[in-house]
Amino acid sequence: MKMMNAEQYEASLRKLNLVVYLFGEKIDNPVDHPMIRPSMNAVAKTYEMAQHPRARDIMTATSHLTGKTINRFCHIHQSVEDLINKTRMGRFLGSHTGCCFQRCVGMDALNALSIVTWEIDAKYQTGYYERFLKYLAYVQENDLTCDGAMTDPKGDRSLAPHQQPDPDMYLHVVSETSDGIIVRGAKAHQTGAVNAHEVIVMPTIAMRAADKDYALSFALPSDAKGITYILGRQSCDTRKLESDLLKPDLMDTGNPMYGGHEALVVFDDVFVPWDRVFMCREHEFAGMLVEKFASYHRQSYACKAGVGDVLIGAAQTIAEYNGVEKASHIKDKIIEMNHLNETLYCGSVSCAAEGRREASGTYCVDTLLANVAKQNVTRFPYEIARLAQDIAGGLMVTLPSAADFKTPEVGKWMEKYYKARQGVSTENRFRILRLIENLTMGTAAVGYLTESMHGAGSPQAQRIMISRQVNMTGKKMLAKKLCCIQEN
Ligand code: SF4
Ligand code: FE
Repeated sequence: MKMMNAEQYEASLRKLNLVVYLFGEKIDNPVDHPMIRPSMNAVAKTYEMAQHPRARDIMTATSHLTGKTINRFCHIHQSVEDLINKTRMGRFLGSHTGCCFQRCVGMDALNALSIVTWEIDAKYQTGYYERFLKYLAYVQENDLTCDGAMTDPKGDRSLAPHQQPDPDMYLHVVSETSDGIIVRGAKAHQTGAVNAHEVIVMPTIAMRAADKDYALSFALPSDAKGITYILGRQSCDTRKLESDLLKPDLMDTGNPMYGGHEALVVFDDVFVPWDRVFMCREHEFAGMLVEKFASYHRQSYACKAGVGDVLIGAAQTIAEYNGVEKASHIKDKIIEMNHLNETLYCGSVSCAAEGRREASGTYCVDTLLANVAKQNVTRFPYEIARLAQDIAGGLMVTLPSAADFKTPEVGKWMEKYYKARQGVSTENRFRILRLIENLTMGTAAVGYLTESMHGAGSPQAQRIMISRQVNMTGKKMLAKKLCCIQEN
């Protein structure tokens, strides 16, 4: 099969039989639901752009299994150039959607598993790597979107998985048969889960022997029996219900076409056949899988530089609409936003450029630099958003609704009193303010701000990794040598 285009991707989702809940109701047709469809559109962009002649270099790659051209989201990185192209792809798609386009988690899970299944085999001759390659060939051949499911609910954070009063706080093996395993538990905050064909489960923390039933990795079709999706709410989400999103003119949403979403994914005694199990009780490899996935996904946050491009463009536009773009403090704020945004991009490029070949042949990013990059992501988008709100002015949050704007009795007053620079339509000013609102405090702020904070691990997780990865002994030696310290 060839790579899918956006229409084929949408059609493929319609064939899935997902169990999805939103607002207490089961959603029979997620693809057309006005609150879900923008997130489906964002994933569809990863298919659309792979067909685009000018984007093909960064959006596609050559499969090391078949030699065929595949979507980069299904690719196992074969070089530093592949890693850098992954960074470019993230920024590119972030800048064309203004939101989380969701497909990176599956790509990062596939790459992490390509390393760790090889390592488990090297120690135990388990055959996981062969299984994984067969699964990868299936994903590549069908151009599938995978959800990379890592975060368990975790219950009492002071207790290990096996110590939890409720054993399901971490996803675990319930029983085992000659055909496969039965699993129970949940994965929280699952980005793009209902837009995925597959779900790839991984452990969420390093495990000890007592937690071996929790040291699990496997893949399932997203509509496997026993999986339920409960969609998360987002700030301002019901604005998407205010009219028909299939006609993308919802001014109050700010970004009518695109959005992200997350879900709680429940696995209620789900059967996994052995050929889809990639780790089962090899607890000493759980930490390695977490670390590899986290490093890849911390690199993936180049997406935020792409969303930052949109926000900076919006801030410059509103400054021009308001007639203040030449004020020195506005120019300086725009420079600061660009400086911070490009620093985010530098982090993602540098961990890719310093990437190395693993024993399995997969190229992996530099762990220290990936963690430094993500630590910046937990901070800089907040400052960029603050500056955008500063430049936008208070109207961003006091603007009446689009319905009022289109009502003749009061719309004429809005038209008159919300007019700014001569030659700029009031409606355009309205639209750009709503986009800034969307990115800094609406549905897209989930992805641009809170996800920047907590996605791919909260800030403290990166600080722990930074402290582990830096060569402190080497640094001390350098200092002592220069000032001629001699110690016994
Ligand atoms: Fe990809 Fe960024 Fe969304 Fe993570 S937050 S899935 S890296 S777009
Ligand atoms: Fe994320």
